[in-house]
Amino acid sequence: MAATHKTPGLDITSEERLAQFILKRHKLTPPFDLEVLVRQYADLAYDKVPDGIDGISLFLKRANKKPKIIISSKISPVRQKFTLAHELGHVLIPWHLGTVFSNAANHDDLSTMEEDDEYLAIEAEANSFASELLIPSDWFRKNFSLEKPATNIGQVAQIQGISVDAAMMKIARLTAPGWTIVTLESGLVKRIYRSPGTKGGAHLDGLVDCHRYSKLASERDSTEVMSKKLLAWKFPIAVELPLAPKDHRDWREVLDNILIAAQYNQADKAHVKQSLNGLIGVAYTEVKRDDSQDFGALVWRSLASKDYASKLLRQPDFKIFLAKKLQSLRDKQRS
Ligand SMILES: [Zn+2]
Repeated sequence: MAATHKTPGLDITSEERLAQFILKRHKLTPPFDLEVLVRQYADLAYDKVPDGIDGISLFLKRANKKPKIIISSKISPVRQKFTLAHELGHVLIPWHLGTVFSNAANHDDLSTMEEDDEYLAIEAEANSFASELLIPSDWFRKNFSLEKPATNIGQVAQIQGISVDAAMMKIARLTAPGWTIVTLESGLVKRIYRSPGTKGGAHLDGLVDCHRYSKLASERDSTEVMSKKLLAWKFPIAVELPLAPKDHRDWREVLDNILIAAQYNQADKAHVKQSLNGLIGVAYTEVKRDDSQDFGALVWRSLASKDYASKLLRQPDFKIFLAKKLQSLRDKQRS
């Protein structure tokens, strides 16, 4: 199965194009003074605003009136910085009119807010503008590896004075396929992002066994910044399975032999079989739905969250088992 992968983050929105145009026009690359840029387009004040609001843009597209931006004086400096870029988006995006109240930094909470679709769309557009303004895609690709997401997020957050979450949201999209990136607070997963082309797998539901992940990942990266721990693992996006294994056993027999060789006890064997069956079924359904997905890689990534996985993946015949199992699923579908 030939998997095609696009260059990360190559599809750009019109708001991102607008941000690129502004940077080019003012000959800016990070780090630059955002306030100086903003003051060319709007009056700016830091003041008290109602709770739950990060910033307000006023007099948008009003004839003979300079727009005004008010940034909440109560929020943290990193949040103020992102909000400022977000409000500049409202000022410059042609169809954002009148007055807009923003909840800019809570990107992930947008979908849960009880607001109308039009408001959500406008907020998402301003965020898209702000992310590209603060982390220009071209600048990022020129200066950072596409394979070190945790390190990059930490560095860019510091260079630009923005939050880890804001940097993470953008940089995950510019990272090579296969990466899962998480932030940890007191050992618990707070946020999880996957780079484009990374699907399924790694079910991180609160507790992460970093040790197990690190053992199964092909590459890993970590950093600590602004009292947050960032971890990233790369799992294969393609696992080559033997095409026509010269092995006359059927998949059940191969699996039984693997389980014996891996020395699971009787109870574990039943559990492993059941769990494997489930995740293989899910992977096969996914591959049927989207044939650019790699069956072996999906199984591999799903196994990353299973405590029995490392013993299993060490068995040389595991790929033969997967190849035979895949064949049997296809035969069943055809009949
Ligand atoms: Zn807004």
